[in-house]
Amino acid sequence: MPLDTAPPSTPASPATRDPRFDVLLEPVPIGPVVARNRFYQVPHCNGMGWRDPTALATMRGIKAEGGWAVVCTEQAEIHPTSDITPFVEARLWSDADVPALARMAQAVHAHGALAGIELCWNGMNSPNLWSRETPMGPAHLPVATFTNEPLQARAMDRADIDALRRWHRAAALRSRAAGFDIVYVYAGHALGGLHHFLSRRYNDRKDDYGGTLANRVRLLREVIEDTRDAIGDRAAVAVRITIDEMLGAAGFDRREAEDAFGLIGELPDLWDLVLGSWEHDSATSRFEDEGFQEPFVTGFKRLTSKPVVGVGRFTSPDAMVRQVKRGVLDLIGCARPSIADPWLPRKVAEGRVDDIRECIGCNICVSGDFTSSPIRCTQNPTMGEEWRRGWHPERIRPRASDATVLVVGAGPAGLECARALGQRGYAVTLAEAGTTLGGRVTREAALPGLAAWARVRDWRAYQLKKMPEVQIALASPLDADDVLAFGATHVVLATGAHWRTDGVGRLHTHPLPVAADAQVVSPDALMSGARPRGRQVVVFDDDHYYLAGVLAERLARDGFDVHYVTSAARVSDWTVNTMEQTRIQARLIETGITLHLSQDVVAFEADHVDLACHYTGRRTQLACDAIVPVTARLPERTLFDALHARTDAWADAGLRSVQAIGDAWAPATIAHAVHAGRRFAEALDAPPDADPDAWLVRREMVGLAPDWDPVRAVTQAGR
Ligand code: ADP
Ligand code: SF4
Repeated sequence: MPLDTAPPSTPASPATRDPRFDVLLEPVPIGPVVARNRFYQVPHCNGMGWRDPTALATMRGIKAEGGWAVVCTEQAEIHPTSDITPFVEARLWSDADVPALARMAQAVHAHGALAGIELCWNGMNSPNLWSRETPMGPAHLPVATFTNEPLQARAMDRADIDALRRWHRAAALRSRAAGFDIVYVYAGHALGGLHHFLSRRYNDRKDDYGGTLANRVRLLREVIEDTRDAIGDRAAVAVRITIDEMLGAAGFDRREAEDAFGLIGELPDLWDLVLGSWEHDSATSRFEDEGFQEPFVTGFKRLTSKPVVGVGRFTSPDAMVRQVKRGVLDLIGCARPSIADPWLPRKVAEGRVDDIRECIGCNICVSGDFTSSPIRCTQNPTMGEEWRRGWHPERIRPRASDATVLVVGAGPAGLECARALGQRGYAVTLAEAGTTLGGRVTREAALPGLAAWARVRDWRAYQLKKMPEVQIALASPLDADDVLAFGATHVVLATGAHWRTDGVGRLHTHPLPVAADAQVVSPDALMSGARPRGRQVVVFDDDHYYLAGVLAERLARDGFDVHYVTSAARVSDWTVNTMEQTRIQARLIETGITLHLSQDVVAFEADHVDLACHYTGRRTQLACDAIVPVTARLPERTLFDALHARTDAWADAGLRSVQAIGDAWAPATIAHAVHAGRRFAEALDAPPDADPDAWLVRREMVGLAPDWDPVRAVTQAGR
């Protein structure tokens, strides 16, 4: 269904569309199918996979509703030798997996898009922890997992290669049975086993599948041909390939990728180009700008007559148009931009580009995959909640009463809460003590590399401006008297949190000894512009996410002699989940910051901190003029406590509820704060549930084996 004939509930209005974006709405033939426009949701992981199929199908269906021409699965393991447990991906091991994937294809088709499936044989990237099959690859090498499993892959022989080709062919047929229109062969990101065969890094074979490029390409060629042979008359065959492994001659480099196009450039119906490993390809905004892949991708389109898709964290339609006009890409590939705004194409089509909720490039979405938990997004609180909670990125049910709401605090929680309540039609006042919107987002976006995070504020500020129901009062620090005098029906306290200066956090659950003349500077003070006296500063990271590293960088750039201390074995330890850890550590080293890893800070003194080795307890001293503890935060509860101390005055004030949300309730990520704001707005005036303890989130349960007998199952084991 072309966008311009979309359902009447969300009419397209091309009249208001800038004609320069028309090119993005052009259809693109892909083998035997046609993409209705150039917006292409490339495969992306989501932490739901085979475990949460209906939640996943609903999420993908909403993207199709939002105008994407193609909506793909995440990687789909084709066989038990391709098992990447503990990661939760799509699975197509047997016919039993077809119905769950068919549900996703149905949801995508229901809204006029093509459904793509990324078949993946993970090769030596699969430890097979669930299936306990032996990992296999081109060579005898340790499995190449993120978790350094103590397992090795076995070098495949000819029979293994034949088996792999059979499995892939069977998976292609099952993909068709599930209804997919585009079927991938995956040779990208050093995740797919076919990539391992391509790369000199992994492939040292002496047979027909190793050595020359033509030999290393052989398996990929055969699998493409098998796939085409199996389903190519009915579905398009796409190949996702790494165009530069970023290892020079030690790996699969650009020159080899170009030569490979000379060999197989015309075989698939579509090329999906990716850069390096997943870390390279999905770089955060701290390290790479929108469109950063362009220099790498440029030129490949000349080597094939087939359409080419590529990514670049594209959120700007102008940048997308440039890709097409310059002949770099035919289809605009998006993973994160489609997560942050599932309706991005529709907004372009309808001339509403200012309404696009732009991805901030934080990779919290990626952390869902790394922690095997359902995807979440900093910008889009409905991501992953479409089926579980019934939330929609663009729609929300209208208000159910004439209640008025006072939201105190305009950080991410307060902004989203006020916006979503305003969208429902409630009369809302958003009061903020400071003179700017955004709370912590505004403060943190001023730190090195985090400028794009301001989009969390900017998108909401723009939406609020268009809502007559919402009044914004800046420079309005409220106390309990002010709130009671205001007369709102409900009060939401999104008053945030402040960083502790007593050293309490993960490591120390009670305050540290702090000398009276020690100079302790809080992260909040630094972010407000304060700077320590003296030159030598210790930043103590017991938080393990980004902030300590970013503050250390800020101070080093300001000329301080910075010592970063953490009990973890690496810098910003949790950022392995956002795939930034390696680059953050490199950046800190390159910025001249001295790293003290596996060291606990145990006392703050006037001219030094006492350190203890995290493993042996051996004590040392580190001289410093000041210490910045990045350990934990305390909720800002002054107003909450004051109002709850005066519940007897609520009825006269017309006040029915006072609730704290976001960091004021329990400090967490910005994504949590935005979600908390949305959650309050969704829940207001919801019909009371018969069981107040019921958890109103849908779960999909495992189907129990039908023929299980407790006696027989036990007694027959081992027979
Ligand atoms: P969250 O992440 O939960 O949204 P933030 O710390 O980003 O929290 O934002 C909290 C906001 O609340 C800050 O901008 C702060 O100025 C504001 N605030 C805190 N207390 C009050 C108050 N009593 N009256 C008005 N605004 C307040
Ligand atoms: Fe973008 Fe962050 Fe949302 Fe991922 S979580 S889509 S990086 S805003």
